[in-house]
Amino acid sequence: MNQRKVLVEGMRKAGQLNLFRGFSIGSEPIVIYHLQYADDTLCIGETSVENLWTLKAILRGFELTSGLKVNFWKSGLIGINVPSAFLSMACTFLNCRLDSIPFKYLGLPIGANPKSLSTWDPLVEHLRNRLCSWRNKHISLGGRVVMINAVLNAIPVFYLSFLKMPRKVWKKVVRIQREFLWGGVRGGNKINWVRWSVVCKEKKKGGLGVRDIRLVNISLLSKWRWRLLSPGRSLWKEVLVARYGNHIIHNVDWSGNRFPISASSWWKDICSLDKVVESKNWLVESVIRKLELRVEDVLEEDARIIFEKIWESPAPSKVIAFSWQLLYDRIPTRSNLEIRWMLITNKPWECVGCVGSVESSTHLFLHYPSALMVWYEVFRWLGVVIVIPPSLSLLFKVLRGVGRNEKIQKGFVMIWHATLWSLWKARNGSIFANGLYNPKVIVDEVKVLSWKWFVARLKVPPCL
Ligand SMILES: [Zn+2]
Repeated sequence: MNQRKVLVEGMRKAGQLNLFRGFSIGSEPIVIYHLQYADDTLCIGETSVENLWTLKAILRGFELTSGLKVNFWKSGLIGINVPSAFLSMACTFLNCRLDSIPFKYLGLPIGANPKSLSTWDPLVEHLRNRLCSWRNKHISLGGRVVMINAVLNAIPVFYLSFLKMPRKVWKKVVRIQREFLWGGVRGGNKINWVRWSVVCKEKKKGGLGVRDIRLVNISLLSKWRWRLLSPGRSLWKEVLVARYGNHIIHNVDWSGNRFPISASSWWKDICSLDKVVESKNWLVESVIRKLELRVEDVLEEDARIIFEKIWESPAPSKVIAFSWQLLYDRIPTRSNLEIRWMLITNKPWECVGCVGSVESSTHLFLHYPSALMVWYEVFRWLGVVIVIPPSLSLLFKVLRGVGRNEKIQKGFVMIWHATLWSLWKARNGSIFANGLYNPKVIVDEVKVLSWKWFVARLKVPPCL
């Protein structure tokens, strides 16, 4: 028998002999004396002097048999509906400190109100600090998506699997994530270029695949319901059945299920999950599907295919994320900035290269004479004949369409990415750094980039 078992056995035996009266739950009561996991032990019992004597005796016995010492100053006594006079007497008697709820057990704030914002402060702070430490670094849009998901993965999952996040907290978290995503590499402008609900969609559905913390929260909470459906008894299930009745296990439809007013806030949240997702079929997968459907804009079939395909490319994620932003026409072209009142110059919308033309993204990437030259030169290089279509997504389709097989199609998609990226870099260079906008140089850049990505990522000999 190991040393921890000594304590557990002691408590059980004392319970059997009625020397220690545990905490009983329900009308056909199930009695709890203690909870133990790893180094954390909770002894739970009624308020009585006999219980204190027994507890002291068991702990002393534990010390004598195991040779371990109970650190009373690391132990705390917590009373729920217990007169304070009794509590201070008990603390003196057991030689431990007086604690109160909420207290931490296994890292979870026990007795904390999930609806109170202060319960969530540590988590929100944690997220904010993690993301802020990266804020001033030069990270591309694609890289920032990775960061957001990584930070979300690193936060304590048991928090989200036990407490239901209030809308207010969720909004706070989203604001932090959004500011980080669009924070601007130079820390400057803070335009939210694409709606958050779109950003959170899967990549192949036109989003960036940012994980929504509320979805994570709801699916983790739903797992409790899933576990109630699954076979096997365990203590937590027995406690819930004793408290709320037998109907809560092996029961899929909870729509007619009412919880007592005295139910804990945790249980109320678990019971109310159906309302959150407006669905009777609440299995974890369908919860996610349902929520996704609600935020999903109806993308045209064509657009759907493009968004599915743009990510299947050996181009770096920062480049693909840029193309993604461009397809939504949400990049800081002059016309886009003017719509958002971000420019105050004389002719804020005008293309730098040609008088009187609006610098829209179609102009900049397709119809600007120098951009046209770049495209035709790239097509010549690829050995294809293409008439420039009116939009970038059409160009994507046409270019991909002329590829003879899957491999060549992927190559063409990568070159589409490389060309857009190089055009944008050249445009920025000519505006911000007095660089030259030279089609020949841009085409060379496209070739170099494509070869680099191709060789680096595909690990097959280039055949283009
Ligand atoms: Zn122009």
